[in-house]
Amino acid sequence: MQVIEQVASIRTIVQALRCSGKRIGFIPTMGALHEGHLQLMRASARENHVTICSIFVNPTQFNNASDYKLYPRTLEQDTSLLQTVGCDYLFAPSAEEVYPQQSLLRFSFGELETVMEGTHRPGHFHGVATIVGKLFNLVQPHKAYFGQKDLQQVAVVRQLVQGLGFDLELVCHPTVREADGLAMSSRNKRLNPAQRQLATQLYKVLQLAKQDLKQKPLAGIKSEVAHYMQQVDELSLEYFEIADPYTLQPVEDLGQRDEVALCIAAYVGEVRLIDNIVVNLNEI
Ligand code: AMP
Repeated sequence: MQVIEQVASIRTIVQALRCSGKRIGFIPTMGALHEGHLQLMRASARENHVTICSIFVNPTQFNNASDYKLYPRTLEQDTSLLQTVGCDYLFAPSAEEVYPQQSLLRFSFGELETVMEGTHRPGHFHGVATIVGKLFNLVQPHKAYFGQKDLQQVAVVRQLVQGLGFDLELVCHPTVREADGLAMSSRNKRLNPAQRQLATQLYKVLQLAKQDLKQKPLAGIKSEVAHYMQQVDELSLEYFEIADPYTLQPVEDLGQRDEVALCIAAYVGEVRLIDNIVVNLNEI
């Protein structure tokens, strides 16, 4: 695997790959890699001639300075892991390399940004779109892999791809979980053992809400979730929503729908975690 830090070098490599007819799979990440990321890499290695991963802790998508500062950075270990999963190129640029000057460009995603992560992390999706758009231009992938764990991000990137006409296929990979159900996340590394235990409540709550979906009014389920989360000291619920899996707009009643997404964000101590499940209503 080749490690590349310069924009100019990745451009040259991608141009050569494209000229020789290679199909490129791409996985953008912020590093501190775990099995969730690695499954995306493996999928790409299976489905493309060449796999490129990027690791860049993108300052423009953090609305909280301490979250950015404390974000785990484990480049050496990440590099070794990538070598085991068929990754061909790691693009790991510095912030100066990616943002040589300030940009006046502003992305806005309408109603996609007025819910959940959009409301609680103002400017976050502008930052995501800026970096993902830049990386798509540099890496020119045929297929780009994202995780369902960040469901709203997938919806935003889908809009970005459609809106700007990127010629690529977007893959939404199912969320990879620990044995006890906790969604894998780089931020889990910041949890102490007691918090790690508590963090399993997020997935438990989603499962409980799923069981109630056809039995109780949706507003009742939401207040039960809020009540459940209040019982535990170190857990603080930011939101729990029942939403359309594509538009992420809140669903008031199930009507004739086939699917809904149950989405949660909560602080476990100081660490903010998110999770979601998409429920097929014909199967419950
Ligand atoms: P991140 O490094 O957190 O920005 O994540 C990079 C990509 O990996 C994003 O598309 C995430 O949605 C995806 N990802 C992170 N955690 C998981 C997981 N547990 N399962 C599946 N995909 C994930």
